[in-house]
Amino acid sequence: MTSKTGATSGRAADPCCLVIFGASGDLTHRLLVPALYNLAAARLLPEAFALIGVARSPSSSEAFRADLAKSLPQFANRSIDQNVLNQVLGCVGYVQGDPDDESTYANIGRELTRVERERATQGNRLFYLATPPAGFAPIGCHLGQSGLARENGAWRRVIIEKPFGTDLASAHALNQKLLGVLKEHQIFRIDHYLGKETVQNILVLRFANGLFEPIWNRDHIDHVQITVAESLTVGRRGNYYDATGALRDMVPNHLIQLLSLIAMEPPSRFAADSVRAEKAQLLEAVQLQNRDEALRNSVRAQYDDGFVENQRVEAYRKTKDVDPHSTTETYVALRLMIDNWRWANVPFYLRTGKALRGKQTEVAIKFKQAPIAMFRDTPVDRLAENFLVVGIQPNECIGLEFNAKIPGPSIAIGGVSMTFRYEDYFEAAPSTGYETLIYDCMVGDAILYPRADGIEAGWRLVQPLLDAWREEKGERLASYRAGSDGPKEADELLARDGRRWRPIA
Ligand code: NDP
Repeated sequence: MTSKTGATSGRAADPCCLVIFGASGDLTHRLLVPALYNLAAARLLPEAFALIGVARSPSSSEAFRADLAKSLPQFANRSIDQNVLNQVLGCVGYVQGDPDDESTYANIGRELTRVERERATQGNRLFYLATPPAGFAPIGCHLGQSGLARENGAWRRVIIEKPFGTDLASAHALNQKLLGVLKEHQIFRIDHYLGKETVQNILVLRFANGLFEPIWNRDHIDHVQITVAESLTVGRRGNYYDATGALRDMVPNHLIQLLSLIAMEPPSRFAADSVRAEKAQLLEAVQLQNRDEALRNSVRAQYDDGFVENQRVEAYRKTKDVDPHSTTETYVALRLMIDNWRWANVPFYLRTGKALRGKQTEVAIKFKQAPIAMFRDTPVDRLAENFLVVGIQPNECIGLEFNAKIPGPSIAIGGVSMTFRYEDYFEAAPSTGYETLIYDCMVGDAILYPRADGIEAGWRLVQPLLDAWREEKGERLASYRAGSDGPKEADELLARDGRRWRPIA
């Protein structure tokens, strides 16, 4: 976590015990425990640390520890130092039990008492709900009712995995249940997108530089494009995906978070309350659409047969565990407007999809064209467009696209770009994307975690679409060839405004 300019890496988090529900699952093995290792390697995990796994699968503390010690080298993607490993797995407990059963929490309590004594973790507890969503409300309620999460001088925090609800009503109901037994400051709703360095850097780019903020408004910005394109197909996740679709899977969380970071007002302090308040204000200003507006300003589509990166891809409907008549969308594009002084009349175009030409996550801010055709031989509409592009995946970079004079005796103009790549300036530490989020939770910094109102605001924006699409039962479902840039209807969405999408790389 050092940069070429020598930035410091911060203090180790508070002593604590991490209790993971869903400890036998993929997330725990592939991402969470490797993230703990990376934190320990960067000296950010406390010396006084203990880990307890909870799941229904039969196991023991010894077997769970051995299981993690075996899976860690496979997923950490780095060589393993025994001292660091011992910090992470030196004190491991396992509680086998049904999370719906009260007795499980009594057993967790006993295990906590044991490891807290052994590692002097000062009673600080972080409960991580890495179970399927059906487990979130029951486990949260049991934690509250059993007293395990009661704060009595020590901190007690709960991380809830995604998806947080499947629509506005279910997200609201989950918030209500959790807030009935826990305080808002104890609840950390994770969105792993916000753990990405480049996403966090959007705030730094905007607010640590005097350069951009004066032009970050409707006077200078023509429109904004937010793209989260995946080349991957639905693969083996047919069951989950067919019940979810691209809109639910990506928009109320990842894309709306990107939108709020790009469009929010400057917070008065770089602190959770200020940032979350500004994000909430921004989301409140996004125009809510009625059914007809929602349909007019959106496109949903499903991929057909095609080739992605030279590999043949079968149509979505032929995927294992997907209904052959499914009307679930694998692509969605939206046009949103924000009703405030900064953004009036500046469209925000969002798109995400699977089986597209390439993997590309970026936010592209298009600046207005120069107002007059000063250069006689290059009409203003043929000048290169001025884009500021924040690349998030696969390349973490910031690029500026502008016009320059082509060398020679006559004035000829060509489009050029200037790109800053993170890897050229900073040494990236191995990362699963969860390190910052887990560390922030351990130090009580909720800046990257959405509040209850932020989560519900995201759902409120997409609810009219969910309703409209449910009613029309796939009537307007478009299609696109796997390996393409998406459906032609998405191009038409922008063409109506005289604009076009940037090509997917
Ligand atoms: P898995 O199916 O691999 O693991 C789920 C775990 O939860 C298992 O340990 C299982 O253990 C336990 N479990 C299953 N059903 C229930 C239930 N009804 N109540 C309580 N516990 C249950 O899932 P993942 O690890 O992939 O995902 C876990 C969570 O993380 C999900 O909410 C997912 O959306 C989220 N997530 C996962 C990502 C990933 O890359 N894996 C990425 C982003 C989010 P047992 O049967 O032994 O009790």
